[in-house]
Amino acid sequence: MTDRRRLVVLDPEDLRPLPLRPPARIDEDPEEWDDDHFHDQCGIFAIFGHSEAANLAYLGLHALQHRGQESAGIVTSDGRQLFAHRAMGLVADAFSQEQLGQLPGRLAIGHVRYSTAGGSHLKNAQPFAVDYARGSLAVCHNGNLTNADEVRAELEGRGSIFQSTSDTEVLVHLVAMSNQVSIEDRVCDALARVQGAYSLLFLTEESIVAVRDPMGIRPMCLGVLPGSRGDKGRTGGRDAHVVASEPTAFDLIGADFVRDVDPGEMVIIDETGIRSLHLPKSAEQRMCAFEYVYFARPDSRIGGRSVYEVRKLLGQRLAEEHPIDADVVIPVPDSGVPAAIGYAAARGIPFEMGLIRSHYVGRTFIEPQQAIRHFGVRLKLNPVEPVLRGRKVVVVDDSIVRGTTSRKIVKMVRDAGAREVHLRISSPPTQWPCYYGIDTPTRRELIASNHSIEEVARYVTADSLGYLSLEGMLTAISGESGRPNAYCHACFSGDYAIPFSVTNRRQMRLVGV
Ligand code: SF4
Repeated sequence: MTDRRRLVVLDPEDLRPLPLRPPARIDEDPEEWDDDHFHDQCGIFAIFGHSEAANLAYLGLHALQHRGQESAGIVTSDGRQLFAHRAMGLVADAFSQEQLGQLPGRLAIGHVRYSTAGGSHLKNAQPFAVDYARGSLAVCHNGNLTNADEVRAELEGRGSIFQSTSDTEVLVHLVAMSNQVSIEDRVCDALARVQGAYSLLFLTEESIVAVRDPMGIRPMCLGVLPGSRGDKGRTGGRDAHVVASEPTAFDLIGADFVRDVDPGEMVIIDETGIRSLHLPKSAEQRMCAFEYVYFARPDSRIGGRSVYEVRKLLGQRLAEEHPIDADVVIPVPDSGVPAAIGYAAARGIPFEMGLIRSHYVGRTFIEPQQAIRHFGVRLKLNPVEPVLRGRKVVVVDDSIVRGTTSRKIVKMVRDAGAREVHLRISSPPTQWPCYYGIDTPTRRELIASNHSIEEVARYVTADSLGYLSLEGMLTAISGESGRPNAYCHACFSGDYAIPFSVTNRRQMRLVGV
């Protein structure tokens, strides 16, 4: 059913840019191009039982690079001790062949990070590795512990000394302080003290422990490199087990996807094989819906569903809710492509690439060059004029965060000669910040949190603007036999499954109090 509340059509006479804060003029917009998205925070990867564990972890992290670009790290074990290397930057820049060669062993865990809790410093790069009374331990984390500040304050009050500002470090202390003997019992002890979203990897000298929070907010999956598959020299003829945030990491190293790690499941891998146990069950499961909308790679399967197919369905559903007759449908590349294909197919309108993205411009190019920052949009995207000139154009994007990028895109398409520009968004209005391990602006900065859809349409200067409804998004994500209530949608609805703490200043700053 069409939800007209999420569609606004503006009178052409009323297409004056609406001045909101920020910005004043598009050319003076201080916002960076890349910043108008929620940013995923981390990708994690583990391998057990391969003599080239570090090299395979390097490749696995490379396939997860879209989940974090600020720092990368790998810790390996040779069965007696741990070896670590962490550095700022992309995976390809963080490791040389020589550095990988200094990471021996058949066990490895790795991490790519986009800072959320804690700042952007090498000291916060993961995995963390420590020696403690019972041996060595490394840990890496995708997610955010919502009560980390409170636990940290308590531990500091009892004499613990922290090396980083990351929430993950409290887990290291909690595991080290546990009175239990086995690593799985120590991890269970530690997790009983924390709340929040986590997909975690622990590495000891002899084992890897992978665990996903009871609500399953952040993704995690299991794979295998069969020992029978021509790599016997490196696996000893036994299966090598792999764990990753997304199965795309398996594709690159020739491993097979086995299954998702269940919400609340702990998987222990050691010389005896692979086994699992379950944490106390949560009453509800809340997989992050935004993984399907934007975070995950389209060639991934999350929760048993193809991300690419789900994004096409989001576009189809969007077309049903907010149809329009137009000459052409174009995506905002790359993330808007599958939804635009779905929208175009549902409406029988030609799909074209009206904007071309440059893949060779990164943050390091734009950030130091204040004087040319206003060229940022053209550096990232360029219009294809023959596709746009004189046309009535539907532009499909995955989300609007601050609105600054959407406004630039609409202007770019119009300047290239489009007769009308109609913006369609394959998710509901993003109105709330995320506390579960995603880098989000404060609530005040989210344009949809304090402006009507008509105001947003006027701000981005689109002829019309239509957002997918929450019901439409959840129906597309969950599929015909799915469970639409099994997803976190707090950033769209404000329905937080794990409440944020009103005494936590960091969290209250996000919500704007
Ligand atoms: Fe994902 Fe949004 Fe929930 Fe955060 S609040 S976990 S981004 S759906």
